[in-house]
Amino acid sequence: MGDIEKIAVIGAGIMGRGIAHVCALGGFDVIMQDVSEEFLRNSAAIISTNMQKGVDRKKLTPDQKVAVEAKLGLSTNLAEAVADADLVIEAIPEDLALKQETFKKIEPCCPRHTILATNTSSMSVTEIGAVVSDSGRTIGLHFFNPVHLMKLVEIISGLETTPETLAACEAACRRMGKETVRINEFPGFVTTRINAMIGNEAFTMLQEGLGSPEDIDRALKLGLNHPMGPFEMVDLVGLDTRLKILEYLHQTLGEKYRPAPLMVKYVKAGRLGRKVGRGVYEYGEKK
Ligand code: NAD
Repeated sequence: MGDIEKIAVIGAGIMGRGIAHVCALGGFDVIMQDVSEEFLRNSAAIISTNMQKGVDRKKLTPDQKVAVEAKLGLSTNLAEAVADADLVIEAIPEDLALKQETFKKIEPCCPRHTILATNTSSMSVTEIGAVVSDSGRTIGLHFFNPVHLMKLVEIISGLETTPETLAACEAACRRMGKETVRINEFPGFVTTRINAMIGNEAFTMLQEGLGSPEDIDRALKLGLNHPMGPFEMVDLVGLDTRLKILEYLHQTLGEKYRPAPLMVKYVKAGRLGRKVGRGVYEYGEKK
């Protein structure tokens, strides 16, 4: 397995665009793929804005911004995007069937050495990877939101993931400026399982009338030293994404992960978080 130089990121949403950003910053050639050109253009513009903030804060030079933009390609064509990728990172919605179907489509379009990674935040890397003929080159690369600011990548080995696949991904993440931890697959890994429990408990408290979202958030920030409150966090993550995670943990790990009915109601109302301008809090416009 040679060094990774070319990366395809599938899905240009909150996570995909952040992953594409740090890949390009690490000097990799990147193609970001999504189903619509509008999503791609919008995500490329957000990457550009985030890099400009880095330049303004003197964390990046203007030349780095130009170099990153030159490294980033956009495509709506999956086969074209993965054709000569050494690493594919899938960041499409948290839906097992959709991820498996996408892995199946990718495999015949890319070289035999290509590593196929999923950014799933909770699901079985083994189960997603089992649909391709060589599951040894499948792995979980769990990035955190906002990707360009968060230090960690939780690297999840499935049952068949080879040590070579793991080593190549650790090296690639280091080149993106990230720290890594090695985790063996289990639903929700470490971070998602803990975070989903805290967030779900906060919704249950809100439902029980313990306090306002602001007071519950302040209690965790000022009393427990959490950098963000659970409602600020779920608005950033996306309530639909969080609900899918809880449904999966409930199905795989049992009753204590049953989604709070109030969270389900918010999702039904379309209050999906910052990405649509309103979640637990109102933002006025999409953020
Ligand atoms: P998102 O809804 O913001 O973005 C998903 C993107 O995938 C959209 O742009 C959509 O158009 C695109 N897409 C859908 N189907 C596609 C297909 N078949 N081919 C190509 N693109 C397709 O979702 P997100 O928050 O970026 O989450 C993506 C993944 O990352 C999920 O598995 C999620 O669990 C995981 N994750 C999310 C967070 C978070 O904080 N949001 C953190 C870590 C991991």
